[in-house]
Amino acid sequence: MSRPRTYQTETIIIKKTKLGEADRILTLYTPHLGKIQAKARGVRRPRSKLAGHLELLTYSLVSLARGRNLDVITGSQTINSFLPLKSDLWLTSCALYVTELVNQFTPDHVENYPLFQLLLETMEQLCQASNKELMLRHFELHLLNEVGYRPQLQQCVSCQRLLEPTANSFCPGSGGMLCPNCSPNQPFSYPLSVNAQKVLRMLQNSDYDTASRLKIDAELSRELEKTMSGYLKYLLEREVKSAAWLDTLREETKQPAPGRSPLP
Ligand SMILES: [Zn+2]
Repeated sequence: MSRPRTYQTETIIIKKTKLGEADRILTLYTPHLGKIQAKARGVRRPRSKLAGHLELLTYSLVSLARGRNLDVITGSQTINSFLPLKSDLWLTSCALYVTELVNQFTPDHVENYPLFQLLLETMEQLCQASNKELMLRHFELHLLNEVGYRPQLQQCVSCQRLLEPTANSFCPGSGGMLCPNCSPNQPFSYPLSVNAQKVLRMLQNSDYDTASRLKIDAELSRELEKTMSGYLKYLLEREVKSAAWLDTLREETKQPAPGRSPLP
């Protein structure tokens, strides 16, 4: 049976690239078609009717026509424009970081519905939650679940023993934690505080609501960020561009990490 020439899908627009004089190629993350590239004709013209519904970081319902190389967007309706994400530089950067990770960890045309849901929920949480850093860590851990790189945080990846509440080490190359007996044999591992281990485990196994109630101090927040970015960089084998940009912003604006109280 031949495929219909036109189709509709919900999507979050995760990347845009200029094409020719007035067109763009958009990267769309969809619930059932996975990641797809599509051409948006004329959207860089000032009077384009489509442009407003096809902005980066927008959740839209798009209509597409199959093309020889790329499918072409013929219509679009905004479902949620995530306005807060577009009116604050720090929030925009957080959202771009999230969409870049989704882009880098996913191949074209492979459905991953849980990942679409995670992306959508992350955009909503970034608009609302008070501690954006925690939301990013939660996103990173759950992204890794969905793409098959869930780090082992409960037991030693070498001897398989359950980890004690002590300074165990994280080893990106082994995909998880090492106990103090095994870590000396692994040169590329670094110790994690007991609190950092607790929070990572908790984030890995909780939903956004639970994660958003957590209070952590700035030092712990930084430790978590370093651990996760080390692991993500290892997996991607290159710098995540927007992570470097977030670092620059953190330095410039000294983003406060809210909350003072220790862990629950
Ligand atoms: Zn061990």
